Amino acid sequence: MKESSVNSLSCPTCRRTEWRLVVHESDAQEVRSGELKCESCKRTFLIDRGIVDFLDPDDEQLQREINGWEQMAGHLPESLVSTMTALPSYPHGEWPYVAADFFQIFEYVDFSDRRVVDLGAGRTWSTRFLKTRGRAAEVAAVDVLKKRFLGLETAEIFFLEDRIFFERYCADIHQLPLRDGWADIVFSSASIHHSSDPLRLFREVARVMKPGGIFVFISEPVKMKSNKARQPENEETRLGINENVYSFEEYREAWRAAGFQGRQLSPRSVRYRSLYPDRDFQLGLPPMVQYMTRGARRRRLLSHLLRGRWTGPFVYQYANLPLTCILTKR
Ligand SMILES: [Zn+2]
Repeated sequence: MKESSVNSLSCPTCRRTEWRLVVHESDAQEVRSGELKCESCKRTFLIDRGIVDFLDPDDEQLQREINGWEQMAGHLPESLVSTMTALPSYPHGEWPYVAADFFQIFEYVDFSDRRVVDLGAGRTWSTRFLKTRGRAAEVAAVDVLKKRFLGLETAEIFFLEDRIFFERYCADIHQLPLRDGWADIVFSSASIHHSSDPLRLFREVARVMKPGGIFVFISEPVKMKSNKARQPENEETRLGINENVYSFEEYREAWRAAGFQGRQLSPRSVRYRSLYPDRDFQLGLPPMVQYMTRGARRRRLLSHLLRGRWTGPFVYQYANLPLTCILTKR
């Protein structure tokens, strides 16, 4: 972290903002190792490889989740560098959908000269684009994972490749280490459903944002209303990763209660997957919505309905589709 970034931070334990920074090692860019001490509650947070670790070492559930992610990722060889620099453009798994929905937001949100938080930034490919393509003044990447090719340490690759810099904070997304009103914009890709308490998460996002600030999130899975399950049964949940499935209504209730207003876009990936159907996508659609994916005119109509203020929430009641939202803090 840069020494000047101390002024952006608030203690996740006591919320005070008086710090003492002890530098063990620094380079031309930042403090590489050291200690950040809260002058009020006396907690010490270690800085290693430039990343400040704000996690609670006694939080066993969080530790189990981190282990689950690392186990699922398996061996991470150095040859992954080229894959990392290509992200989110990667032709396997969820990436084609994430990429389509991610680049769509640059048509709606102007990040230039803004302070941005990348919530649940993981490998920080999105943080990289918010800084370069989005021309953000400052971006802070927040995630619980640090491991290179999986978490925040991956940022080093982008620092070298692009000659950029952004802060990396290892922290719980419900307890951000940032001061009240620090951010103009908060961005998140597929992170909210990892929270067991979306209202608490939306409230924390509201706290770190200026009034009028924007919260844009993409690629959140939405379950149809008739699905009563709270958690999906997949490899993630078996490994202790916190995966939840929420309905559109549950997301919206939480953001409204936290003081946000706004609406959903029609995600690019829905048009993409309508034209190139896959089994997972089709399984989540009732026959009526499946019918609307056949033929260019019907697909255009589906997009139109999906982004509509009244029609969108209606379609989401009956179909499992990804959610992209642009919200404003009142
Ligand atoms: Zn403190």
